[in-house]
Formats: sequence, structure tokens, C-alpha cells
Amino acid sequence: MDELKYQVDLLSAMNERIQADERMYRLVCSTSSNAFIYIDLTNDTIKALGNFDSFFKDVTLNRVSDLTRLYPYISDSDVLKFGELITGNEAVSESRSDVFKMKKGGMHVEVEVVIVEDESFVPTDKIIRFRDVTKFKQQNDELTYLAYFDANTGLYNRNYFVRLLSEFIRRAEEEKTVVSVMFFDIDGFHNINDGMGLVEGDELVQQFGQMLLEYKSDRLIVSHFNADVYCVAIYDPRGKETPDVLYKTIKERTKMPFKLSSGNEVGISFCCGVAEFPEAAQNTLELINCAEIVMFKAKKRGRGQIQYFDADILRDFLNTVDIENRLKEAVFNRNFMMKFQPQYYTATKKLRGVEALIRWKDNDGKMIPPSEFIPIAEKNGAIIPIGTWVIDESIRIYSEWKRKYGTDIKLSLNVSAIQYRSDDFLRTIMSIINKYDIDKTDIELEITESVFIDDVKDVTDKLMVLRDYGIKISLDDFGTGYSSLSYLKGLPIDTLKIDKSFIDEMNTDENSLVILETIIYMSKKLGLETIAEGVESKEQYDFLSGIDCDIIQGFYFGKPVSDTEIEELLKLEKGIY
Ligand code: C2E
Ligand code: CA
Ligand code: CA
Repeated sequence: MDELKYQVDLLSAMNERIQADERMYRLVCSTSSNAFIYIDLTNDTIKALGNFDSFFKDVTLNRVSDLTRLYPYISDSDVLKFGELITGNEAVSESRSDVFKMKKGGMHVEVEVVIVEDESFVPTDKIIRFRDVTKFKQQNDELTYLAYFDANTGLYNRNYFVRLLSEFIRRAEEEKTVVSVMFFDIDGFHNINDGMGLVEGDELVQQFGQMLLEYKSDRLIVSHFNADVYCVAIYDPRGKETPDVLYKTIKERTKMPFKLSSGNEVGISFCCGVAEFPEAAQNTLELINCAEIVMFKAKKRGRGQIQYFDADILRDFLNTVDIENRLKEAVFNRNFMMKFQPQYYTATKKLRGVEALIRWKDNDGKMIPPSEFIPIAEKNGAIIPIGTWVIDESIRIYSEWKRKYGTDIKLSLNVSAIQYRSDDFLRTIMSIINKYDIDKTDIELEITESVFIDDVKDVTDKLMVLRDYGIKISLDDFGTGYSSLSYLKGLPIDTLKIDKSFIDEMNTDENSLVILETIIYMSKKLGLETIAEGVESKEQYDFLSGIDCDIIQGFYFGKPVSDTEIEELLKLEKGIY
């Protein structure tokens, strides 16, 4: 009796526990946003659980073969794979899953199938889970899109271009063929963008990109790097698909202005750099770099130019980069020194002054000439600290000469247009002059015509201020720029330095003698002093003295020398020997 009661109690307790468990499972299933199908493989029963209706409305499942009733809900392109996944019964160690597109409203469903097996590996149960992943899918698509495409133009972005180009190069290596990279850059885009505003600038960028895209093929990929920069790669260029033809075609088409949605029309031109695998570079990034470097070279030649890769361009470029890097260090360590080249009055052969010329002594003791590093320093802004150092160091040395020998020769300082343009220039030079307590009238600034590219009035005003202080202004390299003698009339300058090229031509060209004579005659009429630069021979000196050139500077009289060597000259002048 006791035994029976015990059995009954045990059974009802178990029952209660089962019921509670069942309630729990039901709750979990019904409140889940997922849907489940449970299949008992041993007796062919099937049951839908959870949020089944939201995926497969109006479907009832009575036996396992009813699974086909789900197919109409899945998009046609995915249905085959879907069927394979949910009907397969072979057990695998991990669950299998895939994402399918449903016909209803762009919904994406992730389907996961788990098969349970008994101890002897016979499948016994199967659970299919459905999960709505529409949101994730959209986000993922967007990320994928952004990873491959540029948002403004819809063209491939740089990263993706690099991948595709790598693939081209890999194939070209195998098939022993060529891959061309064309680097496009719209001329003066900065100004266009500033002038039109960003919205129209973007539209122009889109239109140019779309135009390039028209030439896309399975051998030609088009990408947009940034702003106005595009890159095209051509696999095995031939026929119409060559850099040359593409450049000419696009150039022809850009003769017509772009029509923007605002109704505005913009005319543009572009430059293009071309580099080819394997000639220019062996790897993807280097190849792109080469195309970019030669594009810069094209820009230097003017608007609408194309430049093909050439090893000299690369060498120059690398040299410039190298100098640029070492220049930063040199500016930091003040690895410069000043040399001074004497200038003499033609008539008396007395010392008139010295021109201060900078020298850069590199760490390995090599001298790098100013003609090589000054243009680079002008481009990267290093000319400002260098220029200030030149003024300070030269005036410091000059003030020593003055203290020791009471000299009143002129000190000529070269001033770069960039330096002259800077707001601080006047203050810098005045404060250095004050610091070493020298006479302002001892200083002469050599400027070149490039200074006048800026607003002539601004430039002139500044020169007037300098001259009011008593500082002299000399126009350097006269004859190499664009200015004519008549142009000089309006400029506040004191001295004209006639460029060495005129002096060089004297020996070979009769005409240049006449030109030289005219320049000197005219500049005297304008009240200017004349200096001839680069005088190397007695003949040149004799001729210049014959036509009344005031001052002579050149190797014939003396090369640029150290400050102590100039001191020897000053002693000589003072008759100290
Ligand atoms: P520049 O101002 O025209 O200087 C004259 C150049 O001609 C100097 O070259 C000088 O050494 C050289 N020279 C003088 N007489 C003769 C001659 O008879 N024959 C030959 N073959 N050459 C002669 P350097 O010192 O190499 O300077 C080159 C250029 O670098 C200068 O041309 C100037 O534009 C720039 N530069 C030099 N020092 C400075 C500086 O301190 N600041 C700035 N901004 N530029 C400088
Ligand atoms: Ca000079
Ligand atoms: Ca000069």
C-alpha cells in the first residue's frame, strides 16, 4: 500500500515538474521573436513553435513533407538553397545556417538547422530556427558599400581599387603582360571649389567620375580617391583601351563645359600621370605612387597635360623628398653657413659691398648648393626660418666688421618672395637691424621679379616702407623674368642686377652686346645703379666698364668666400697691412 502511494506521489510530482517545464518552454518560445520547427525524425511528427506566424503566415505543418509549404515565402533566387538546407537530414557536428531573402518586404531570414542524434549516431530530432536579420543585413550592406565605394561618386574607393589592381598585377605577372595606371587630377580644382561652393564642387566631381565610368570594362577599372583625384587601371592596354586614347577622349570631351543642376556651367581641364607595371614599379602601391609623381610633373608643365613615367622623374622626386627631410633637420640644427661675394665699383675697383650667399653643409660634410634646396625650402615653408637665420647671421657678421674696421660697404641680402610676402617680414628685419645696432642704409635687399606676381600695390607699399627706413632695394636676376625696362619705371628700386645669362652671351652673341648697352643706358636714365653679375673674364670686365656699368660682381674679381676672407679684403681697403 505504502509502496503504491509512493509510486502515485512520485508520478504526480514528475507530472507537475513536466508541466512546469513545458509551460516554461512554451513561454520562452512564444515570447521569442524567432520561430522554430521541431521534427521528431523517429515518427515523422512536426511542430511549429514560437513566432512562426510572423515568418510564414497561414502555414500549417502536419507532417514533415509539409516543409515545402514554406517555399513560396522565400525569394525565387534563394528557394533552392533554402530547400536543401531545411530538408537535409544528415547530422553535422555544428549547426548549419544561411541567410535567405523572403518575398515579403525585403525581409531577410537567417535559418539555422540543428540535428540531434542518438548514441549510435542515428538522427533523432531536428530543430529549425528562423531569425529576422533584415536590420543586420542592411547595416552590413551599408558597411560593405562604404568599404568598397566612395559615397560621393559611387565609384570604387582607393582601398578597393588597390585590391582590384593587385589582382590585375597578379594576373599580369602570370600572363607576362602590362597594367597601366592613370592618375587624374582636375586643374585648379581648389579654386573651382572655393568659387562655386562645396555642393557644386561635389556635383562636378560626380560628373567627371561618371564620365570616366563610361569607359569601364572588365579590363578597365575606374576609381575615385578623394576630392578631384581619380585613378584608372587598364589590364593589358590595347585598342581603344590605352592611356593615350583614354586621355585624348576625355580631353576632347572636357572641351565642353559640365552642366550642373543649378544651371551653372563649368569648364575644366585635367592633368594625368601614367605608370605601367612592370616598367615603373613591381607592386601595387608603388605603381600608384609612380603615377601620382609623374602627374605632379605633368602639372608643372601646365594645364591639361599628360606625363608618362620616366625613371629620371622618379629620381628627381626621391632626391627632392630626401632633401626635404634632411632640410628639416638642417633647419633644426642650423647646419648652414654664410659666404660673401665681393662687389667692386667698375671705375675705381674699390669694394662696394658683399652679397651674402647661404651654404648648407650636410651631416656627411657634403655641400648642397642653394639652387637645389632654396626652391624646396620655398615650397615647404622652411624658407621662413632659413631666411630669418640668413638675415641674423649676416648682419651679426657685418656688425663685427663694422666694429673692427669701421667699414661702410653694403651688405646685400637675398630675400625670397615667400619670405617677403610674410606679414612678419618688416618686423623681423627691423628688429635684427636694431639688435646689432647697425645703420639701416648699409643694408640692401635683393628681390626678384617673382615678388611682383602678387598685388603690385601691396608689394610696392611694403618696399616704400623699407626705403623710407633707408634700406636699399635691388632687383635681382634682371632679364630672366617677364618685366621690361618700361615696367621698372614705376617700381621703388635702387639697383638693377643684370643676370649672368646676359654676361655669358656677350662672348657669343653680338646682339646681346647691344641689349646690354641699352639696359645700362636706360636704367641710368631711370636713376638706377647697375650691377653686372657673373663676370668671369677680363674681356667681359673691359666691355662692361666701357659701357659704364657701375658695379661688377663675379669670379673674375672674387668667388663667394668666408667672413674671415672678407676681413682680409677690408684690412686691405683700410690699408691696415
Ligand atoms: P643669385 O642671387 O643670383 O646669386 C648669384 C649666384 O651666382 C651665386 O650662386 C654665386 O655664387 C654665383 N656666381 C657669382 N659670380 C659668378 C660667376 O662669375 N660665375 C658663375 N658661374 N657663378 C657666379 P649661389 O651662391 O650658388 O646661389 C645661387 C642662388 O641661390 C642665388 O642666386 C639665390 O637665388 C639663391 N640664394 C643664395 N643664398 C640665398 C639666401 O641666403 N637666401 C635666398 N632667398 N636665396 C639665396
Ligand atoms: Ca642675389
Ligand atoms: Ca642674381
